[in-house]
Amino acid sequence: MTQIKERNIFEKVSKEDIFKKLVDIFGSENVTSKQVDLYPYSYDMTECKPRMPDFIVIPENNNQLVELVKYCNDNQIPIVPYITGNNVGGLTIPEQGGIIVDFGKKMNRILHINETMMYAILEPGVTFGQLKKYLDENHPHLRYSYPYAPPYAGVVGNAILSGMNSLSCKIGSMGDSINGFEVILADGTVARVGSCFYGLEDSDPDSWWSRYPMPDLLGLFVNWQGTTGLITKCAVQLWPNDPFQKAYVTTIFGLTDIADVLREVGKSEAVDDISFFNIQAVKLAVELENPKKFPGEPDFITIMPMSAKTEDLFEAKKKLLFNIIEELNKKGKKILLLDLDDFAKVFDLRVRCAYDLPAVILPTVPRSGLTWFGSYAPTHKFEELIEKADAIFQKYDYHSPILYGKIMKYGHYGIFRPILPYNKYKEEEYVHKIMEEITDMCLEAGCIPYKTPNWMTEKMRKKINPGWIKLFEKIKSCMDPNNIFNPGRWNL
Ligand SMILES: Cc1cc2nc3c(=O)[nH]c(=O)nc-3n(C[C@H](O)[C@H](O)[C@H](O)COP(=O)(O)OP(=O)(O)OC[C@H]3O[C@@H](n4cnc5c(N)ncnc54)[C@H](O)[C@@H]3O)c2cc1C
Repeated sequence: MTQIKERNIFEKVSKEDIFKKLVDIFGSENVTSKQVDLYPYSYDMTECKPRMPDFIVIPENNNQLVELVKYCNDNQIPIVPYITGNNVGGLTIPEQGGIIVDFGKKMNRILHINETMMYAILEPGVTFGQLKKYLDENHPHLRYSYPYAPPYAGVVGNAILSGMNSLSCKIGSMGDSINGFEVILADGTVARVGSCFYGLEDSDPDSWWSRYPMPDLLGLFVNWQGTTGLITKCAVQLWPNDPFQKAYVTTIFGLTDIADVLREVGKSEAVDDISFFNIQAVKLAVELENPKKFPGEPDFITIMPMSAKTEDLFEAKKKLLFNIIEELNKKGKKILLLDLDDFAKVFDLRVRCAYDLPAVILPTVPRSGLTWFGSYAPTHKFEELIEKADAIFQKYDYHSPILYGKIMKYGHYGIFRPILPYNKYKEEEYVHKIMEEITDMCLEAGCIPYKTPNWMTEKMRKKINPGWIKLFEKIKSCMDPNNIFNPGRWNL
């Protein structure tokens, strides 16, 4: 199952007939097959192999999508759901051609906010910037958890790929924050999953408050990379926007000492989030190209946003954090703890981009390509992972090595992500070689990559329990017997 076969998608119907049908469904202004329009959808920022789609459609409503899915299912035409293509894994590159369904342009409404149970119902195209602005203006005491992704990336795309965001130390994966979906299945059925399942025709917008206690059918769509159905609505949890908020930074000397800081602070319940960057990433953030670490400089910094409902509670959390750092220093670590505002004023105000999310993270700007091995990682292996990834970067004398990670859900698991900004079209082979080596090393240590490009899922398949693969493929063929949804992903 690991070989992706070339597929003749015009076997049953001609390209001209498909085009006519699409214009029928979506209207001529929402369909294109011009090369110039298709080209931007044929690649992303990674080194994954580009592939042209045959058509782009811009949907406005479910009726259009139901008609499209039935037609594609009958004629075995691939459908690739697309929001903004910022997944950093090649996941919207149409592996077997076909139709890109671009949800970002017109299905991008914030449909409902429930203040009491703190959730938002979103169409797939809503972006982080849009949600933040809407909440700040209309529900200022609520907030979302934002990634380091740009403000124009999709909220639903991030949640269904189990993103890790700015409240992740408290709440864990964004996949866990989904309350419900409305989805279109391969035969055109429109299903609602989660507590919104009550209601024969429509749902009450105030009924999208829980994922449980029914069988967890949301799992049929989370992390499947758009291969099991088209999500048309998604309810995501919101969180109190506490009045007392501040962030702290630590600088840490010693390559692997960061691991103890992460684990100890992470499980303390003092911080909303704790993420780490190597010093090279911090230098890139202030636009030093080809950053080097010089002897005597710290190896890592952490960013730790904190929040509380009252000043007393905030002060108590702060005291706890300060005590943990003091204890670690007593044990021989070399850690400086600073207020992020002071750090930014002294160092460079541009580092605030990494705190005032959603923001465009500057290290990703100067170069045209970006690729990573992003993974859920066992936190007891952080030391080994950091040492080995650093050694691989050094072996290749790589110009902009970024090491990033964080603690999830108070330390139940972690994130480990070596990141490679690179010059697209000039350095693809070179970065891919480094990526392969990093991937082999991290898989060996038990890391589980997310937003996985196909070349990576191929490596994973060699290590995964065959029973899991059998179950996974059975579910896929049951959900999508004609393999029309984003075919080729996960080497399906
Ligand atoms: C610089 C940078 C930094 C980032 N930092 C982080 C970070 O800190 N944390 C983090 O978690 N992520 C991060 N990301 C990744 C990013 O947050 C998410 O992957 C992104 O938000 C996904 O949204 P999108 O609009 O790009 O989705 P797309 O890439 O368009 O789609 C994502 C996947 O969902 C599928 N899909 C799209 N629409 C539907 C639908 N309606 N139904 C079913 N399937 C669908 C697609 O086929 C694809 O497989 C970063 C990205 C960048 C570029």
